[in-house]
This record gives sequence, structure tokens and C-alpha cells, in this order.
Amino acid sequence: MKYTLEQLFAYSKQYGFIFQGSEIYGGLANTWDFGPLGVSLKNNIKKIWWEEFVSKNKYNVGIDSSILLNPKTWEATGHVSGFKDPLMDCKVCKARHRADNLIARATNNEVDADGWDYQQMHDYIIENKIKCPNCGGFDYTPIREFNLMFKTQQGVTTESTSDIYLRPETAQGIFLNFKNVLRTSRKKLPFGIGQIGKSFRNEITPGNFIFRVREFEQMELEFFCKPGTEFEWFDYWKQFAADFLTNIGIKSENVKFYDHLKEKLSFYSNATTDVLYRYPWGFDELWGIASRTNYDLSRHQEYSGQKLEYQDPQTNESYLPYVIEPSLGVERLFLAVLIDSLEEEQINETETRTLLRIDKRLAPIKVSVFPLVKKYHSAKAEEVYELLLTDFEVSYDDTGNIGKRYRRADAIGTPYCVTIDQQTLEDNTVTVRERDSMEQVRLSLSKLNEYLNKELKK
Ligand code: ATP
Repeated sequence: MKYTLEQLFAYSKQYGFIFQGSEIYGGLANTWDFGPLGVSLKNNIKKIWWEEFVSKNKYNVGIDSSILLNPKTWEATGHVSGFKDPLMDCKVCKARHRADNLIARATNNEVDADGWDYQQMHDYIIENKIKCPNCGGFDYTPIREFNLMFKTQQGVTTESTSDIYLRPETAQGIFLNFKNVLRTSRKKLPFGIGQIGKSFRNEITPGNFIFRVREFEQMELEFFCKPGTEFEWFDYWKQFAADFLTNIGIKSENVKFYDHLKEKLSFYSNATTDVLYRYPWGFDELWGIASRTNYDLSRHQEYSGQKLEYQDPQTNESYLPYVIEPSLGVERLFLAVLIDSLEEEQINETETRTLLRIDKRLAPIKVSVFPLVKKYHSAKAEEVYELLLTDFEVSYDDTGNIGKRYRRADAIGTPYCVTIDQQTLEDNTVTVRERDSMEQVRLSLSKLNEYLNKELKK
């Protein structure tokens, strides 16, 4: 069964994955808070990315740079002058639209207005009588440029404040630290620097639940290589990204690559691919992979006056490295993981169960502990709970009948349930039930942690 976005939101809210932001004040549009299960899933996603791209990767190291950067950074990169979207208001209902998106939507993505000038977009919308998707009206303001960076002030008094931006991507904190990392990590080319952190974009049309938000997290790698080798590394990281998704259990039929046409590439890029995922509204960008030449380093070198070249230890040549950037949004992967793993499984002729068939490493809770009968078995169950807590993310549930507790554990993807019953009190054995097969084994308590540790690694 395919879930709609509304159903995914209802599910996320019901079980405590995601809540509407600022809910008790009536909410703040397009902000989302991650509940107990959500934060755990999010952390597990970030942990796996960090392991694969940084801590267990022979090429790469990591950093954690500031959200607030010297504003010159964004002049150098062109974000102040160029990080803009074409904004159009519907005069009838006041809805805001991105002009290029109006065109894409009206033509079912047949016409790609990316790269058109504003006059071309305006003329196309008028000539083709593209109506407001919100109210059906056809009366727009002219297109205006809208900078997506959030501006704020730094400083305590009005005289001393200066404008500063919340970063719209984590990447630039990496470029600013290129020399620091090179010196201290003693890395040689090719090598990469990875970072996970918050980014902010004042999107004109946020929406699709957590797909497009104004505050989100990115997992980015800037991979530095010798000019001339960039296409080889570009292919390498494309394949690495595809393998990463398969490895965490994303079905390959729900993923495809979209290579940007040469003539549509951003001016600083010589190759770009979007990794698309099949979201409920169709394939859309999950992960951007771009070969960015030496654009960022050369601009920072120019604007800062600091030499950012790399000196090749073998040839003694100095040059600015080229860069491959795989950039992945945590929320977009979170949504893909939910969509990919949530199912309604028929378990016999009359019964179904909601099952989050999620990779065990991503599961927000690894083990759930149940006393069969609260009155008699909770003391022992609490002991088992504490024993397991030393090794795993565990939950304790004594509400409702055992069948209902199993169903809840299945619905949130908990791989193992441990039940404490009368026999446990007699011989210190427990029942362990596996989520997907629903098979149960009887185990001695002394072997429990070791058994689960082994099973969870499979
Ligand atoms: P889009 O075309 O969807 O706006 P983009 O091409 O601007 O995305 P990039 O600048 O390449 O996106 O950002 C890299 C990644 O960061 C994206 O692939 C996505 O996973 C994530 N991302 C970007 N913008 C948002 C957002 N507003 N909300 C959530 N994730 C985002």
C-alpha cells in the first residue's frame, strides 16, 4: 500500500516521530519538531552517514563549523547576489509562487524554466494562461527576485549591529577551513571533509511535509581532488551514494539518477546529478551531487586574500583542488526511509499489521521489554529493562494486552521484543520475538545481550 503524505503525517504524529512546530500556539507554518522516536531515527541516519562518509572512510575527515560565518563568505560565493528565486504573488488569493515551479507544475515537468530570464518566465505564464494552483485565479504581480538567505543582526546595540546570515548550506564552513584541516589532519589529495549541521533557507514555497522546510539539516561532503581527475571521483561518489542507499534498505526501484544537461549546469559546475527518490507526489530530489571545479576555493582565495592552494608533495606543483560535493538533506532521507519501510502486512486471512520494516541500525528503538502480566512480572521485567539499557535503545511497555504491544512495536519498527512471563521467574529465561518473521525463541537471560548484539548486527 502506498501512503499519502497526510497518512504519513498522521502516523508520525500518532507514534511520536514528528509533531507540528509550536503546536500549542496554533503552530508555525512549515516547522516540524521531532519527537522521541523521530530524534532517535534522525540520529541513527546521521550516525550511519557519518560512519560511511567520515569516521570509517579512509579518505575523509569531519568538522563542525559555525552556522554564522563572516558575511564576506556569502559575497564571495555569490549567494548575496545570486541565491535568489523568482517570486510571483497571486493577486486574487495572495498565494506566493516560484515562477519556475508554476511552469513546471502546469506542464507536468515537461518544460524546465531553470535558467530562463524573468521576462521569459513571465511571458510563458501569461501566454499559456497558467492559473494559480491555489485559487484558480489568473492575476499575478510581476516577478520579483527573492533572496533565500535568512538575514539577522549580530551585536548588542543598534549602532554596533551588523547584518549577518544564517548559512544556507554547510559546505562553505568546510571551504573556509580547508587550510586548517589540511594542516592538522596531514591529509594528502584526494581527501574529503564531511559535515552535518543545520542550514536555513527562506523558501518561497515550503511544503510536502518535511521535504521542503526553512530550517533543515544537511550531510555534506566536500571531496578535494587534483584537477583532471574530477570526473573519475564524481562517478565514484555517485556509486557510493547509490550503494549507501541500498545498504540502508532503500529499494532501488524507488531511486533514480537525473544527470543535468551540460547546457543547464550552474556556471561553476562541470557535472551535476540529482539522486531522485519516489516520493508520494513523484520522483524528486533527495541528494545533489555536483562537481564544483575550484569555484569555491578560488572565490574565497580572492575575497580573503589568503592563499588556499595545495602543494603537491610529489611534484611540488601548487594548485587549487577541484571539488566533488555530495549533499544530502537529513529530513529528505528521513521521509524516504519512512515511505520505503512502512507497510500494511496481511498476516493471516483476517488480520493485518502496520509494519515499519526499517533497517535494524536505523530503528529508533532496538528492543522493547514487556511484562506479560503487569501485576506479577513487572519487577523482573524492570530488571531486564535495566540490563538491556546498558547496550541498546530500549523501551518498556506494560500497557494493554501483549498482542497490542507487539503491534505497536511492529508499527514503529522495533526489531526485538522481550517478554517476561511466569517461566522467567522460575528459570530466568525470556521470549524474544523478531519483528519481520514474528518468530519467537526462548533464551536464558545471561545470553540475552550477546544474542541481541549479534542479531542487530546482521
Ligand atoms: P531543491 O531543488 O529541491 O530546492 P536544491 O537543488 O536547492 O534543492 P541543494 O542546494 O543541492 O538543493 O541542497 C542539497 C540538499 O539539501 C538537497 O538535495 C536536499 O536534500 C537538501 N535541501 C535543500 N533545500 C532543502 C529544504 N528547503 N528543505 C529540506 N532539505 C533541503
